[in-house]
Amino acid sequence: MARAGVGELVLIDRDWVEQTNLQRQLLFDEADLGEPKAVAAARQLGRVNSAIRVFPRVRDLSPDSIEGLLEGCDLVLDGTDNFASRLLLNDWALETGTAWIYSAALGYRGQSALFLPGGPCFRCFLPEIPPVGSVATCDTAGVLGPAVGVVASLSACKALRYLTGQAEEDAPGIDLFDASQSAMRRAALQPDPACPACHGERDFLLGDAYPRSSVLCGRNAVQLPGAGAIDLAELAARLAPHGDVQPSRFFLRFAVEGLTLTVFPDGRCVILGTEDPARARAVKDRYLGG
Ligand SMILES: [Zn+2]
Repeated sequence: MARAGVGELVLIDRDWVEQTNLQRQLLFDEADLGEPKAVAAARQLGRVNSAIRVFPRVRDLSPDSIEGLLEGCDLVLDGTDNFASRLLLNDWALETGTAWIYSAALGYRGQSALFLPGGPCFRCFLPEIPPVGSVATCDTAGVLGPAVGVVASLSACKALRYLTGQAEEDAPGIDLFDASQSAMRRAALQPDPACPACHGERDFLLGDAYPRSSVLCGRNAVQLPGAGAIDLAELAARLAPHGDVQPSRFFLRFAVEGLTLTVFPDGRCVILGTEDPARARAVKDRYLGG
């Protein structure tokens, strides 16, 4: 977008640059380690094109913050790593009549789709958040750097088509890419007659369905609610390569990145070692999905 001369870019990210990002996140290098991603990215894009304005926002996108963060944007490019943020974004986009582009990559695979006001929405495609731990995430399954590049290019292409008025007539669809086969196909997106979001429900934007966190006073811990029953044994097996896992009958303990996650069978998760809900949610999304 910066190289194409899109005049104003708002960059929203709650995370800091880590060593493990550098294999796929081309805006960053070793000198940026530990810096907020939005700030490091804005600096780099300022070098790419000094004629545009870039606004870094080191914030957690939530039902409370989304209106202020996205107000006035003509188009939103999703580069998030969790379903709750996308369903929240979907609600906001429907409510404000704004187009947005979904991008995702995992392992060798990637997906990209443009959602237009009045067309099938993201929730027609994904009605509910999958239960915690039921899906692989970038940090449990890995993500191939070049697959991210392909998805980013597909989505950037859609963005430029949309901004130049060429995308309105495109049939709704999702591009599915598999780098292991060099294969790409486009699946049609159909409106779901039962889609609550298309019928005006905004339970993610209103916060009712959005996973809430609570800081556990005096315990240096944050609690994140669960979204449904999970299989602790299966989760333990998937997390084992990534940190110290201690399963028990009633919960699973997982130590990673200086934090200890305690996951309960109903999906509830207590993250010990921080009182920052944004950091807690980031780590949970990274390893458990969400
Ligand atoms: Zn829908």
